[in-house]
Formats: sequence, C-alpha cells, structure tokens
Amino acid sequence: MKTSGLGDWRRTHFTSQVVPELEGAEVVVMGYVGNIRDLGSLKFFTLHDREGYLQITAPKGKVGEEILAWIDQLTPQSCVAVRGRVIRARQAPRGVEVVPLEVKLLNPALSPLPLEPTGKIKSNLDTRLDSRLLDLRRPRQVAIFKIKHEIVRIARDFLTRKGFLEVQTPKIVATATESGAALFPVTYFEREAFLSQSPQLYKEVLTGCFDRVFEIGPIFRAEEHDTPRHLNETTSIDLEAAFVSQEEVMGILEEMLVEIFTGIRERCGGELRTLERTLEIPEKPFPRLTYDEVLRRLEEHGLKLRWGEDLPTPAERKLGELMRGPYFITEWPTSIKPFYIMPREGREEVCEAFDLMYGELELASGGTRIHREELLTRRLREKGLKPENFESHLKNFRYGMPPHAGFGLGLDRLTMVVTGVSNIREVVLFPRDRGRLTP
Ligand code: ATP
Ligand code: MG
Repeated sequence: MKTSGLGDWRRTHFTSQVVPELEGAEVVVMGYVGNIRDLGSLKFFTLHDREGYLQITAPKGKVGEEILAWIDQLTPQSCVAVRGRVIRARQAPRGVEVVPLEVKLLNPALSPLPLEPTGKIKSNLDTRLDSRLLDLRRPRQVAIFKIKHEIVRIARDFLTRKGFLEVQTPKIVATATESGAALFPVTYFEREAFLSQSPQLYKEVLTGCFDRVFEIGPIFRAEEHDTPRHLNETTSIDLEAAFVSQEEVMGILEEMLVEIFTGIRERCGGELRTLERTLEIPEKPFPRLTYDEVLRRLEEHGLKLRWGEDLPTPAERKLGELMRGPYFITEWPTSIKPFYIMPREGREEVCEAFDLMYGELELASGGTRIHREELLTRRLREKGLKPENFESHLKNFRYGMPPHAGFGLGLDRLTMVVTGVSNIREVVLFPRDRGRLTP
C-alpha cells in the first residue's frame, strides 16, 4: 500500500479531545490502528494515540471507494493520519466517531506483531520488554508513565518551594560511596573509573555552599539481584540540607510523600482507574519503629534476628504483613549503615540513620551525616576503607562543612507503590537487570 509523508497535514486533536460536542467539525487525528472491522455496509477501525482512542467509521456509499480499499489493507499498529468529520454516534464507544474524508498511511506495521497490543492476549513480561514500543502504546503502560511524570513534577515543585536547589552531579566517579553495593567499572582514558552508586558525597559537599540541594538522577548498582524490586540502573530522588539533623529531613520526606499521594489522586484520577488502583493517602506523622522494636516484633512472630544484622527479605516480608503503608525504622546499628552516617553520641553502636518503608518495600534511606573530618576518617577506617582514597572528599571537611542530613528516595520504588505495580521492571521504560541490556 502506498505510504505518504505528513505534507502540510498537522494534527488538530488528540483522540480524547474529539467529543460529541464537536459534531460537524473537521478534524485531523494521527496515531496507530487498533481493531479493524468490516460489517459489510460499513468498515471501521479504532485509532489510538497517547491520550486514548477514537472510532473511524466508513459507511459504504458515504465515503469514497479508495478509502474503503485503504481500510481493507490496514494492519494493526500501522501509523496513520485521518482527516474527517465528527459525528455524534450513540452506538460508538465514546459517543462519537469520525467519518474519513481523506486518509494517509504514514508507516505500515509488520504483520503479525510480536505482541498483541490491545492486551486481549496476555504476553509475558520478557516479550513485552523486548517489544517495549508496542507495549508502551497500551493504556495501562501510558498510565504508569503519566503518573511517574507527575510524581517527579510534584517532588520538584515541593522541594523548590522548600528552598532546595536542583543540581546535577557526576555519574562517572573515582570511588565508591555505598560500600555494600558493587560498582560498575568503566574505562576512563588510561584510568579505571566507576558509574556512580549515589550522589551522596557530592550532595553533602554542596550543602556547604548551596545549603539545600536535590538531584533526580540515575544510580548504578552492580549487584547480581534477581528480585522484583532491584534494577542495576535506577533513578533516585536525593536531597541534602545544611544545619539540620535527621528529624527535619524525615519531616520533609513525610510531607513530600503526602503531597505526592494527594497530588496523584487529584490529577491522575483517570490513570488510577485504568490501573484499578485506589490510592490511600497516608497520614502524618508516619509510625516510627526503632531497629530494636523491629527485632522484638519479628521475634514475637517467630523470626529471630541477630542484633546488628541487616533485615533479610523474609524479615521485610513479615514486616509488610504487620505494617501497612509507610513507616520509619530508626536507630540502626552503626555497623550496617554507611561510613558517613553519624553515630549516636555516648552510644556509638547505634546511629542517626532511618529507612522509610512502605509495607515490605524499602523506599528511602537517610540520616544525619558526619561533618567533622576526624570522625569521618575514623569511620572510614572502621569500615575497612582507605581515607587516602577519599582525600578529595575529606579535604572539604577542613573548610568548615556545616552539620547536615539528607536521604535518597528510590523513584522507581515509589512509582511501584503509587501505581500498585509489583515488578519494578514495569515502571521503568527500558529496565537494566542482570540479563537485560537491550532495548
Ligand atoms: P536495598 O536494601 O533494598 O537493596 P539499599 O539500602 O541498598 O536498598 P540505598 O543505598 O539505601 O539502597 O538507596 C536508597 C534508595 O534507592 C533505596 O531505599 C531504594 O528505594 C533505591 N534503590 C537502591 N538500590 C536500588 C536498586 N538496585 N533498584 C531499585 N531501587 C534501588
Ligand atoms: Mg537503604
């Protein structure tokens, strides 16, 4: 079939903007072909775009033979443009349809397709990720990424209002920050460098000049996980503030989360309905459990952990059964938190760190940071790290670094919670995991 270019055609409406009230108007819509049907006296197909879909109806005798022949040759998901007249039609899915006056095939799609985008035939996640473009045309996927867009927008607005400056820090770095997580090496000319695990050290330093900063950017973790909540590349919402301790940033985190949930419920009603998600807005203050209380509760439920152990997956799962919604875990053992976290004065085995959990899922980690060089150097050594490797970071602490605190919040995990999706791969456009480097 003959294809054509756009020429001087321009879209006048997204499909969702074509409403019965436009009856009689001429519109130009562009998008992808859905179901095609031939009822003998009438041929029609659905045209889909990011905002929805519309029925294009071609009654025999009312539209030209060439248009009918054109419809006969269409394949699902082909890219088309239709100039036509809006008709109010009670029997049509949205109470409206468009009768074509002129049509263009902009780019035909292969037939058969590797997956069935209308979702009638379920495809497994791998097939969907392999043909992600087709998958992302589906309303459910569009809804997820519209919600994610809004989450980022609300977070950015909120933090700007709270006096935070948005910054961009290097993603090619010389040293590790999160000693637990493995690093991806990269060749940096004649040296070895790594992909950044976290903006931690940079954002801390920036509190010494910009007072309050945040960054929404990628972090890379070379861990060989195969879980529904870990990826090797993920996005974090990181912030850091001067002259405060963990209590204040926990307050900011709580307020930001409530604002995100409220904003999504207000602005994304249609998307939440598409996902069949009822979003409960959490109440402030969120429950706070100390690490010791967590251990006690777990033991009451038959799960005994050694003091000083990080929470293994079964413990998180059990906690998720006991605690619905968001809650903080505080007063962690110093030994399982990173070197830059402030130990409690007079009881150094616990530290001023917190995790924000949502059910069984860790959403954020944060705390009060060390701002004195002697203590930081000592903590590096105690963690088995070499202070010499951190010289370019440590020297900042000789220039009057302020007391500061902050957190890193996983954007992809937060999107899972808001959308109710249980696998992180679904809320990332092109996920990177142990087995997946393309698309
Ligand atoms: P976990 O214990 O769940 O592996 P973590 O404690 O190693 O996470 P942090 O270093 O505390 O992670 O990172 C801050 C936040 O970034 C986490 O709370 C989480 O929301 C997100 N995050 C960290 N690593 C990953 C990952 N591999 N995949 C997805 N999100 C992640
Ligand atoms: Mg953590």
